[in-house]
Amino acid sequence: MRPGFAARLRDLRSGRASLIVDLGSDIGSRDWLRGAATCLALCLSALALSPGGETEAPVPAPLSDAQWEEARALSYAPLAFGGDTGRRMAATKAVEALTETPERPRIDLNATLGRGDTLADVLRRSGVSRAEADQVASLIGGAIDLSDIKAGIGLNVTLGRREARNMPRPLESLAFRARFDLKLAVARQNGALTLERTVIAVDNTPLRVQGVVGSSLYKSARAAGVPGSAIQSFLRAVDAHVSVGSLGANDRFDMVIEHRRAETGETETGQLLYAGLDRAKGKDLQLLQWTQGGKAQWFEASGVGQTSGLLQRPVPGAVSSNFGARRHPILGYTRMHKGLDFRAGHGTPILAAADGRVTRAGWAGGYGRQVRLNHDGGLGTSYSHMSRISVKPGQSVRRGQVIGYVGSTGLSTGPHLHYEMYRGGVAVNPASVKFTTRAQLRGGELANFRARLRSLLATPVGGAQIAQKTP
Ligand SMILES: [Zn+2]
Repeated sequence: MRPGFAARLRDLRSGRASLIVDLGSDIGSRDWLRGAATCLALCLSALALSPGGETEAPVPAPLSDAQWEEARALSYAPLAFGGDTGRRMAATKAVEALTETPERPRIDLNATLGRGDTLADVLRRSGVSRAEADQVASLIGGAIDLSDIKAGIGLNVTLGRREARNMPRPLESLAFRARFDLKLAVARQNGALTLERTVIAVDNTPLRVQGVVGSSLYKSARAAGVPGSAIQSFLRAVDAHVSVGSLGANDRFDMVIEHRRAETGETETGQLLYAGLDRAKGKDLQLLQWTQGGKAQWFEASGVGQTSGLLQRPVPGAVSSNFGARRHPILGYTRMHKGLDFRAGHGTPILAAADGRVTRAGWAGGYGRQVRLNHDGGLGTSYSHMSRISVKPGQSVRRGQVIGYVGSTGLSTGPHLHYEMYRGGVAVNPASVKFTTRAQLRGGELANFRARLRSLLATPVGGAQIAQKTP
């Protein structure tokens, strides 16, 4: 029976009737002859199909020295070495010099108001004459307070045709967003500069975001669209009342944040106005930002303000080692631990515990990078093992000001803050030093405060609601 095509293919594949044969074995057998014939046939066909004759690659003639110099002068290499040939590619006779180049009739440009810049500075930089820049600045100064214009805003400047080349171009128009709610335009009409104000309608409804704390309040709030700075304010406000570490996954946060929407579509997010906690266990918290005596601070719903005079916690972390005798983790023997160790990640900002003056800022042996502050009442504090110091000796610092960042310099097993406190130069237990005075709102102010709180809490929830899985 004739084998089918598939069977023959199988035979070929398996090598039983293959054209491809191992020519090293069974020399002289039928299979070997077939294989040798195949090999020969393939070699012959390759020869037969190869293009006849020889293909020659042109070999360039070697350059003479003069030709080589010429070629090199035209290449990039001399430029890279700073034009070492001394050649200059001059224009040929085919190029005719113009007696006068035409000038653009007008120039449109965008200028940016830098930090520390005045409006007149930017205009002068853009090519406006000093007299005109001052004139425009005073024109705008008559409409708004020039210091209200924030650094970073862009100005659209149009300069017109000038009469001669040795004089500045006249300002044709200037337009910019002077404030979030105001656009200003200066235009030249019949030779004189006039100012046009365009008020942009702004909706000031604050943004309210609520959510479940979940595994991390920071992450949950970020996921709900709260800006990082507002979350930091929230944590700082809440920290004075409850330990942030004690928040449960089912606790809910409630934030009201300053928010402005312009009719032109831009939004601007400002400060945190209200911080609320709805706790599964433990007391709920309602904090409202309120300005009393020119100083903004957080007040509880009852009208009780922040404890002031109390020392600021230098970092938010937990205390990992207390004041007293302990076995030193590196030196191995028992000695006095003259401060508190705060657990904190590398790079966490360290805040001054109270207003004071920097007495030293630098390396202090086993303490690593250290900052020492002197405060009123013979009190002093020191902050050690910092990764980075951001104050200088002699500088005054405010309570809560960042003076450096957590690190692990000096004799330290890992990033933490070693915090010491001195009274009359003697180390004392920082946990024992407390001053407590609290502001209390009364009467009409308390009524206003309550009304403000009610109105903020009437804000509809605007942020994306998040459904956080609870562990
Ligand atoms: Zn320590």
